[in-house]
Amino acid sequence: MSTIESITLMLALVYSTSLLYWGGKKWGALVSGALLLGATIASFFWPLLLILLGAVLVVTALGQYQPAFANAEGRPNRIREICQHFFALSMLLVGVQYAINAGMLYAGETPWLMRPDIGDAFLPIAGGIELKAILTLGLWDQNHPAAVVMLCVVLLTGLICKRAFCGWACPLGLAGEYLFKLRKRFIPAELLPPAWIDWPLRMVKYLLLAALVYLVVSMPTASLPNYLTGNYHKVADLKMAVFFMMPSLIALIGFSIIFALAAWRRQGFCRYICPYGAMLGIVSFFSPFKIRRDTHHCLIETKGMSCDKCTRACPANISVHTQKNIHSDECQACMRCVSACPKKEALQFSTRNGIKLSARGLMILLFTLMFMVPLFAYVSGYWHSQTPQDIKMELIQKLDRVGH
Ligand code: SF4
Ligand code: SF4
Repeated sequence: MSTIESITLMLALVYSTSLLYWGGKKWGALVSGALLLGATIASFFWPLLLILLGAVLVVTALGQYQPAFANAEGRPNRIREICQHFFALSMLLVGVQYAINAGMLYAGETPWLMRPDIGDAFLPIAGGIELKAILTLGLWDQNHPAAVVMLCVVLLTGLICKRAFCGWACPLGLAGEYLFKLRKRFIPAELLPPAWIDWPLRMVKYLLLAALVYLVVSMPTASLPNYLTGNYHKVADLKMAVFFMMPSLIALIGFSIIFALAAWRRQGFCRYICPYGAMLGIVSFFSPFKIRRDTHHCLIETKGMSCDKCTRACPANISVHTQKNIHSDECQACMRCVSACPKKEALQFSTRNGIKLSARGLMILLFTLMFMVPLFAYVSGYWHSQTPQDIKMELIQKLDRVGH
């Protein structure tokens, strides 16, 4: 694993362990601590030991003195924000590390900084093609194995805890939040579109997802080995990087639309355009965890009050106070509704048979899925790209001429 990947993994595990420990879940903390030890050994690198030591000291101090921002149960919104910024920061560092590595390859120098394989998470189509190759031919790609690993991780999060990936981990979602806040500062009005525009716009992301799925499904199975060993696939990550760093005019127009949507309405990009959001929206219907309103505790049924605080807190504009179970594909499990509810037991993120997941529990679950599965893949030898460096150095010089 690269330095950034290892540091992120360490910090996530230390934080999970401490949350479990300070929350009184000693057995959970023990298991998490054991995983931490395993991870330390698996990604052994001496600076990491120093970082790990520092992280343990900081977290111990936080647990001891319990400042407000470290209190996960009392401040679920705060803990989600920390989680989002944690992922965004690690992605930013990964981007810097990736750019340095690619820049040195382009200059014909042997990179002193390793390529972070987690960058393959930005190759969902490659991940889909690799998944198809595994399922149909039993062929495991060696050039971007992390792409299929991360695709499966994201799918798994959707299957277990709805669109928590969007609400808690996606850096684009966080960037959208900031754009929306910036717009609100200058134009305070909500600017929500009427339902007859909102619904068709929401379908756009499903059309984009269908197009991407069609690309993968329509690829002849017999051509998969050639594709996966071909030059185009070997530099798919570099092509993606160039697409973002040196966008064409059409790409710039596309980015502008995305930014405008994000600024126009809260979660505009996630709601209308993002195919990942569409994929998770579909998968999330199967998630056992949902936001559930207990009518035995809700103020509407128990006191006859006209409370709608949960609905007003919901960034996805879901009418929480009129439903018992939130099945909506737009629910990102952000728990803002749970935080806003004045009756603690009235609203929970739980299974049908009453297993509840607190904000703390959800974050630990996400950390476990998003860090443990890649760690397992890494330890199993299916994470690191096997594309030889000299081939990358050669191909990066003629990137625009490398085709399918
Ligand atoms: S229903 Fe609750 S958890 Fe779902 S998006 Fe709305 S506020 Fe967030
Ligand atoms: S905020 Fe709580 S009490 Fe009020 S309507 Fe929603 S679930 Fe019921």
